[in-house]
Amino acid sequence: MAKVNIPNFKLNNGREIPALGYGTWLGLNDKMVFDITDLPKLVDTLSYAIDIGYRHIDTAHLYRVEPEVGQVINKKIEEGVVKREDLFVTTKVWHHYHREADVEVSVRASLRRLNLDYVDLVLMHWPMSISQDGVDEKIDYLETWRGFETVLKKGLAKAIGVSNFNVEQLKRLLANSKVVPASNQIEINLNLGQKELVDFCQAHNIVVVAYSPFGTMVPSHAAPGSPEPKLNNPTMVSIAKKYGKTVTQVTLRYLFQRGLISIPKTVSKSRVVENADIFDFVLDENDVKTLAEFDNGYRTVPCSFWQDYANYPFEKTDVKLEIPLALRKWKNGANQDID
Ligand code: NDP
Repeated sequence: MAKVNIPNFKLNNGREIPALGYGTWLGLNDKMVFDITDLPKLVDTLSYAIDIGYRHIDTAHLYRVEPEVGQVINKKIEEGVVKREDLFVTTKVWHHYHREADVEVSVRASLRRLNLDYVDLVLMHWPMSISQDGVDEKIDYLETWRGFETVLKKGLAKAIGVSNFNVEQLKRLLANSKVVPASNQIEINLNLGQKELVDFCQAHNIVVVAYSPFGTMVPSHAAPGSPEPKLNNPTMVSIAKKYGKTVTQVTLRYLFQRGLISIPKTVSKSRVVENADIFDFVLDENDVKTLAEFDNGYRTVPCSFWQDYANYPFEKTDVKLEIPLALRKWKNGANQDID
């Protein structure tokens, strides 16, 4: 069986976090409905990923797969493949749970679904607070963060962090709270370099985790009119060829060389191996420069349907969209059998 060797970064709480993780968001289909067709494959691939050496798993309440992710983790612990302390499990608190006391409710429910005593990192998924009915609750994320500090104090999470926070929001959080977030999980890929935000986080010892690391390069995210590079982009193909790697490996390696953690999602075993096989080569300065030129600020995940809500973190556009129901209301398990 293939084995992968993934190095660690250090969080500001002194604990280690693997530089590459396994993402578990199955996404919405083209009707904007959450689709569990690939869930058995996700379970199988995650199980394989742990077998071959992945130790970092990224999930969330929103993803509706915490029960299945927890089953895989517990099975691997029972089988003696890993110990709990070898794994780094991240989950996230959704918009509905932004009142201070509700953060603990949400984290305890995630732990119950995951069947774990603690998570290694829990993130505030977004800075906005929105009810299941789409009402803007306008709860200050500083209040929500106090709930995170309590969860940390109680040992339900070993570290606390945020996701989708911009520089201004982070500055305000740092100026008004006791615990510095261990991590900010944000979209970063070749089209969206986020230099200012990454520089700010790195200067403040906040580890940056890159979600959607392939951007619109992969067919599932390649919206019509979305920019290059795609998988067959000639510049990318020629750089990949030079190192004997694939275009996706070059992409993940580039992010790693920027000091970023990536959490690619795949339900393919060969890609699980491929995505982690990036730690045995170094992109040279010229290639790094060429790759940086693809940065044009394009967002793969703009979530513009939240743009009129308080604390929406990105630039607003002219588009008016309804929030997909699947991002507002759901039962907790993908199989909809868990409250
Ligand atoms: P990714 O950039 O990980 O892209 C996933 C897509 O890429 C899938 O279609 C997958 O297909 C394909 N893929 C994976 N590996 C390869 C490869 N080596 N070659 C070709 N295609 C490949 O995007 P995601 O949006 O899924 O982001 C990753 C993770 O980040 C999520 O799963 C989630 O955990 C997290 N996330 C967090 C967000 C937040 O708000 N905090 C927002 C969005 C994501 P296949 O499965 O068929 O291999």
